[in-house]
Amino acid sequence: MLTDLECSACGRRSAVGADEPWRCACGSPLDFADLPVPDGPVPDFADLDTRRGLWAFDDFLPISPTVTLGEGFTPLVEAPDWDAAFKLEYVFPSGSFKDRGATTTLSRAAELGVERVVEDSSGNAGAAIAQYAARAGVDAEIYVPASAKASKLAAIRRVGATPVPVEGTRQAVTDACVERVEEGDGWYASHAWNPAFFAGTMTFAMEVAAQRDWRVPDAVVLPVGHGTLFLGAYRGFRALLEAGWTDSMPRLLGVQAAGYAPLAEALHDPVVGENDVADGIQITQPVRREQILAAVEETGGDVVALDEAPVEAELDRLHRAGFYVEPTSAAAPAGLRAYRERGDVAPDDDVVVPLTGSGLKT
Ligand SMILES: [Zn+2]
Repeated sequence: MLTDLECSACGRRSAVGADEPWRCACGSPLDFADLPVPDGPVPDFADLDTRRGLWAFDDFLPISPTVTLGEGFTPLVEAPDWDAAFKLEYVFPSGSFKDRGATTTLSRAAELGVERVVEDSSGNAGAAIAQYAARAGVDAEIYVPASAKASKLAAIRRVGATPVPVEGTRQAVTDACVERVEEGDGWYASHAWNPAFFAGTMTFAMEVAAQRDWRVPDAVVLPVGHGTLFLGAYRGFRALLEAGWTDSMPRLLGVQAAGYAPLAEALHDPVVGENDVADGIQITQPVRREQILAAVEETGGDVVALDEAPVEAELDRLHRAGFYVEPTSAAAPAGLRAYRERGDVAPDDDVVVPLTGSGLKT
């Protein structure tokens, strides 16, 4: 049984199928009309089938596990120098947390009988969709900026997907991809638009809670571009609360890159400077902006923007502590430092920070 799609803004329902719309007629992103809520008691960690990876939580998902590479249950480790716990989201088959959304998105595409998926991404999301499309035996076209590094194009090609370089701005890349979708030649496996992607990123919250014996942290500090992980975390913690598996919500504290910080600027004064180190979160128009701001407000959270210098310094600290991550991954732990200085995180707060992408790719 496929779950209907519903507009996040106007509530209009859309029929599902291989030719389903990628957004509402009003222009807003679609979400699943209903998400399943498991009944029954809270399981002990030992009762979870962690051999199924993040699919151990499929009672919360409107999707069946048909396309999987065994992803999930990334390590949650103590990081004493940060007085926090790091969730090592770079320990995934394609080297980033985007696999959470790629496994659910390609599983749904397979369920719908989709023959070709398209995605626009200059980095981790494109690699994840390409690899899971290979696993599914589905064609994939990944629209990338013409300036994308040869190594990234090679990674897409090596798994049998087709990179499509587009000249111009990042928006031009998205526009070309959307044009392809509108022509009816591909199903939009977008990490910004596709609700299946956000169903997958919900499992971040479920793993964190399970690994802490269902004790929710006081705060989670996350990088924010399109909010793929941020919103997934919000939805996951909310679903756990509704199921009665947990009894509180964490404060969700977002971190953006200066110069690309529309959410931080909606909440604070404009940020000066430009951060080109955290290149994975250079998003000026997040598709789900209103949903992210609502999640911030509801959890008593916030979003701040960071300049290059603190992110670069943090990347060095991470590497020297044995966390070999890509530069964008340093934004969240650097953000934790900023939140502490501002007094938004207290010394005795229990904090979890995801490290989102592997340094082996860069
Ligand atoms: Zn609508």
